[in-house]
Amino acid sequence: MWSIIVHGGAGAIPGPLEAQHRAGCARAVEVGAALLARGASALDAAQAAVRVLEDDPTFNAGVGATLDARGLPLTDAAVMRGEDLAYGAVGQVLGVRNPIDLARAVLEDGRHCLLVGPNAVEFARDAGVALCDPARHLTEATIRAYTARREEEARSGRRAATADWDPQEGLGVDRGNTVGAVARDAAGGLAAATSTGGLLMRYPGRVGDSPVAGAGTYADAELGALSATGHGETMLRTVFALRALQAAQAADPTEALLAALDDARARVGGKGGAILVLPDGRLAHARNTRGMGVAGQREGEALFTAF
Ligand code: ASP
Repeated sequence: MWSIIVHGGAGAIPGPLEAQHRAGCARAVEVGAALLARGASALDAAQAAVRVLEDDPTFNAGVGATLDARGLPLTDAAVMRGEDLAYGAVGQVLGVRNPIDLARAVLEDGRHCLLVGPNAVEFARDAGVALCDPARHLTEATIRAYTARREEEARSGRRAATADWDPQEGLGVDRGNTVGAVARDAAGGLAAATSTGGLLMRYPGRVGDSPVAGAGTYADAELGALSATGHGETMLRTVFALRALQAAQAADPTEALLAALDDARARVGGKGGAILVLPDGRLAHARNTRGMGVAGQREGEALFTAF
């Protein structure tokens, strides 16, 4: 029995954007589910679903990635396979058309787990992963958000925090919205994939939780697969993905996810959300932000969306 679930990022996403977030997630699930139905691996399905979300300007990954303090759409991405704990990730890459494809290439190469910066882009060139003009990833919304933040800094005479996170609201509208997918294939294989533009106005060179195994992304055949979103520093400091998966073993998985999010918030202060698939194919999602686009499907059941 195959199953797949995707998220479009947790944050203070305003109500009027809900439909757009649900629809984008549903399109990604359709692509992943079609692959799974044809017998594809969980890894292929999760990667394909994330590629759809990276190409959708609604979300903060690939096209629509948020801008760092220099105004650049540098991105992080990771994929992980549960059977053998194979892991591939990239941090701070610029001008890679689909960063999730580069993370997959790192996994397939197998020598290393995480490559960063211009050397990772060099690796993409060698591995035949498509590059693009970085301008392809810019959107009016991300430029507007960056410009507004710059103006706010100039007005207040105060530099914005490197982490664009509001204690009350979580991540902002044009700012959160990392994407992720987790899947179980018909043969029982598990995989997780996450891709993000990170936080608006992040210090150049900042790497978040998404490409760090056990923090923003994790897959283990014995535990399940998880992709997180939210305040990356919180997820890093609490080793969120691994701990939430462990907690989900003995409890209702949705309640376990919510408890893990609330615990991380209580201890470190940041909010977020997550999706998971358990080894038996059960799916769960939770958030403690205002919204998070979600879509999922299990073999033989209808596609669902949530927000
Ligand atoms: N977790 C991501 C990061 O901190 C941001 C997000 O999920 O919106 O880079």
